[in-house]
Amino acid sequence: MTTTAVTHIASLVTNDPSLGNGTPLGLILDAAVVIEGDRVVWTGESSKAPATDSAVDASGRAVIPGFVDSHSHLIFAGDRTQEFNARMSGRAYSAGGIRTTVAATRAATDEQLAANVARYLAEALRQGTTTFETKSGYGLTVEDEARALRIAARHTEEVTYLGAHIVSPDYADDPAGYVDLVTGPMLDACAPYARWIDVFCEKGAFDGDQARAILTAGKAKGLQPRVHAGKLSYGPGVQLAVELDAASADHCTHLTDADVDALAAGNTVATLLPGAEFSTRAPWPDARRLLDAGVTVALSTDCNPGSSFTSSVPFCVALAVRDMGMTPDEALWAATAGGAAALRREDVGRLAPGARADLVLLDAPSHVHLAYRPGVPLVAGVWRAGEQAVPLG
Ligand SMILES: [Zn+2]
Repeated sequence: MTTTAVTHIASLVTNDPSLGNGTPLGLILDAAVVIEGDRVVWTGESSKAPATDSAVDASGRAVIPGFVDSHSHLIFAGDRTQEFNARMSGRAYSAGGIRTTVAATRAATDEQLAANVARYLAEALRQGTTTFETKSGYGLTVEDEARALRIAARHTEEVTYLGAHIVSPDYADDPAGYVDLVTGPMLDACAPYARWIDVFCEKGAFDGDQARAILTAGKAKGLQPRVHAGKLSYGPGVQLAVELDAASADHCTHLTDADVDALAAGNTVATLLPGAEFSTRAPWPDARRLLDAGVTVALSTDCNPGSSFTSSVPFCVALAVRDMGMTPDEALWAATAGGAAALRREDVGRLAPGARADLVLLDAPSHVHLAYRPGVPLVAGVWRAGEQAVPLG
């Protein structure tokens, strides 16, 4: 296997506190990274880098781990421009808008859905995302949910079954019947393609008892739980997530003190999705409150056509720093190592020996520029699993 060194990195985020300056980011100045095959095999000061087959000079720019976007909804068709436009003109958002995308997704061909996901993944990659999770949830029939997951599984191992996104319009008068479908034949058809099971625990979607039944059925089929919780209102979702050892409770915008205490005491990551608050003009999640309580926080896009149509993790980092009380270091950690924790992954979200070689070269001397220069396309190159996935600019 050939080795490549990336040298003269002004500041390297390793997310390994045993490296560098001893902070959670494990920052090394004037650094180098050595890649062998798909792995990082060495990190340290550039002047001490071992001899390699080839070298890339970062010329005083920063390198960070590839972003781990642990929450997206990319298997869909159509868009909701008109709904967004109406909302920005003063109309409130409700979960019912999902039905518009369900109709468009059911009507789409496999090829259309596959082309759509490929397009948004390419867009995300250009912005530094090297690991992503995505979900079903716009099919809501046995066949359409299984189809969505089959298509998603061609692009990522982090596939989530979200038959319980909303009660299918076909079951508007029989929500209990829909829960039976989601925990029965739909689960059987979807489980082979998925690693995770998710439920939208919210007024107008699924209540605590329904969410518990859905997640428990998924666990019995070998799927691991994650939960949409506290997005629009206070509810039982966060504490249910912790109780069922969910990898992540996602949104966490409306939290009681008991919710925060449960997250701090448990193994469930709080995944914050500020694109949703941005796109619905909703109050921001309070990242500072969670961090001060000792909760592990992840930051992801929630990319979906209704409530957060951004694939940009750097945009979410900037929002988190500006409006959610996170420091630039905390936001960068949450978007990389935090996302990895929300997917219970050890191999991504860090750049220490043994990690997958997912590197993002920034056209900036420091990761702080992601928040300092919001909206500027700072990603100058991406390696994914040791391969140059975005050519160096
Ligand atoms: Zn979501």
